[in-house]
Amino acid sequence: MAPAGLGVCNAHDHLFLRSPLLPGQELDDAAAAAAELAAFRTAGGASVIQWTPYGMGRGAAELPRLARESGVRIVAATGLHQAAHYPPEVLERLRSDLAAVFVAELAEGIGDTGVRAGMIKVAGGFHGLDRHARYTMAAAAEAQLATGAAIGVHLELGTGALDVLDLLCGELGVAPDRVVLGHLNRSPDLLVHRTAAEAGAYLAFDGPSRAHHATDWRLPDALAALADAGFADRILLGGDTTTAGARSVNGGPGMPHLLRRHRARLGLALGEDLVTRFLTANPARAFAADWGRSGATATA
Ligand SMILES: [Zn+2]
Repeated sequence: MAPAGLGVCNAHDHLFLRSPLLPGQELDDAAAAAAELAAFRTAGGASVIQWTPYGMGRGAAELPRLARESGVRIVAATGLHQAAHYPPEVLERLRSDLAAVFVAELAEGIGDTGVRAGMIKVAGGFHGLDRHARYTMAAAAEAQLATGAAIGVHLELGTGALDVLDLLCGELGVAPDRVVLGHLNRSPDLLVHRTAAEAGAYLAFDGPSRAHHATDWRLPDALAALADAGFADRILLGGDTTTAGARSVNGGPGMPHLLRRHRARLGLALGEDLVTRFLTANPARAFAADWGRSGATATA
């Protein structure tokens, strides 16, 4: 699809997610995912980037039907989360050639679903990068350079952004504008935000769909500071629904909250035109890739 086809984009969210760290809260119900997408569509949404990586119940086989029936475009992910989200034997199996797994999922498909991933998700740690993070980021960089796909990074509590950029861009040769830093809203350190934007990375402010976080109220000021400094074109917005209870269809804020309340709230602070850019033009640039270079033809 052409990047402009993304339309109003939820740049970081989840339709399916399973982790031993969130027992009993799995997103594994396709009917609930369909209802959530329908609610997002009704609120004006056109596309969702699902940052669920390898081995966390991505529901890849379900995504084409859900996209068709809802009219919402869905971008799937490859990549790997922090080690704590996996049984040790799964990680052991992947160790031999993780980059090849990522490239295969981007260029050929996830398992035998025929559904190709459109981005690479990895994760940092709290103010640092452990061995697992360094290994997965090296593999992600290799896959990025081979395919052009963007890398989305879970920053633990919003920290470690500059360590991630030093590694991915400084050491591993990834262009800064191929990196999307996630969860920066959880660490409202405006100096770090600005430094990351100056480096050329995209900054994803995601999480209004999650349980309350103490830094939520800092978001309008953080975005205004970036925009005032000339970095409005680096900002992305997402919902990041990670538990069943957070879905709108279960009484939580869910995906529609991003457009129903969050967008209006940010519009009051920043002006609606700017917020519309965060939701349309910016994600279209951030997640665009020249898929021809990976030897494949078109994306679903
Ligand atoms: Zn997420």
